[in-house]
Amino acid sequence: MAVTFRFPTFIHFGAGAIQLAPELLGKAKVRRPLVVTDKGLASSPLIAGVLKNLSTADFHTSLYAEAEGNPLISHVEKGVAAFRKHDADSVVLVGGGCALDVGKAIALMSKHPGNLLDYEDDKVGALPIKKELIPMMLAVPTTAGTGSEVGGSSVVSRDDNHQKIIVWGHELVPPRVIADPELTISLPPHLTAATGIDALTHNVEAFLAKNFHPLAEGVALEGVRHVHKHLVRAFTTPKDLEARGGMLLAAMMGATAFQKGLGVTHSCAHALSTCYDLHHGLANALMLIPSLEFNLEVVPEKFVRLGECIGLAGSNETKAQGFLAWLRELKKQLKIPSSLRDLNVKLTPRLVDVAVNDACHANNPRPCTRTDFTNLFKKAGAMT
Ligand SMILES: [Zn+2]
Repeated sequence: MAVTFRFPTFIHFGAGAIQLAPELLGKAKVRRPLVVTDKGLASSPLIAGVLKNLSTADFHTSLYAEAEGNPLISHVEKGVAAFRKHDADSVVLVGGGCALDVGKAIALMSKHPGNLLDYEDDKVGALPIKKELIPMMLAVPTTAGTGSEVGGSSVVSRDDNHQKIIVWGHELVPPRVIADPELTISLPPHLTAATGIDALTHNVEAFLAKNFHPLAEGVALEGVRHVHKHLVRAFTTPKDLEARGGMLLAAMMGATAFQKGLGVTHSCAHALSTCYDLHHGLANALMLIPSLEFNLEVVPEKFVRLGECIGLAGSNETKAQGFLAWLRELKKQLKIPSSLRDLNVKLTPRLVDVAVNDACHANNPRPCTRTDFTNLFKKAGAMT
């Protein structure tokens, strides 16, 4: 059934691993979990199964499922109210990036003073996150993309202008993760594609990021190899548990690797989500190729290694160009819209502003100016 390994946290991986949930919560000596999930999953058989499994083992559960899409700070605040009302002692996060990020923020704010903005990463005067004030978290991903289950960040948007804020701390890494491929087989193909490209983008951008972190680079290359092997299979044959498991691993590798940093693709994607509420993975899928073409000039040797890790041989040029050619083909196979034009995205000053002000591109291997961002959006097909 499940195998357990510990990196970067305890991960229980395998088909049927969800059955371990009562045992893991029992060992943590908690009895009253708040189950946090995405709005769209609230009435699914998957959630019904998790709740039944817990109630059969005498846990007192309550469900919070208000958040969806790009979650807002108000979703976190409502979740904190639900946590207190239930007198919860733990949080079980079941879902995609939205549920996981909201759940971590609920865990943070359930006992910490102030509001979420007081904990914004890198903010001068940010309040400290105290491990002893964080309730037990069990993370159960149902998508294979964000990898938020193994990360210490929570990304939510302000209600007023939809700007994304990032809260980060080692203390926010869920101590236990159940990565069960059976829970991802009902993910519809378009979300399998978009979240899968998010995982790929994490691995590729982490590998290219300019920070020094050779360990993260090793993990990132293995993540790319997993996506190459499994994503199309997971898309075309949704019940293929090996492919689904491979993508869950790729997503966790991506989130493990991106502690090294991300890059311009993510800055553009964050701007597209802020201004057009685009799905994060889809936004990455549309920005990845122009962003990589922009970076190829400064780190060609890294593209050779990316080509090698998907099995390409030949000259350095063949490997580097072959990697980009694979991405173009992948986008077609996954039926991802070819251009921002297809999504009615217009090139506006605000779109560029948000990208320029986003923190992710600080680690991009090539500095990206305002003019560069404008060109990237144009290359991705934004209407002028
Ligand atoms: Zn991402």
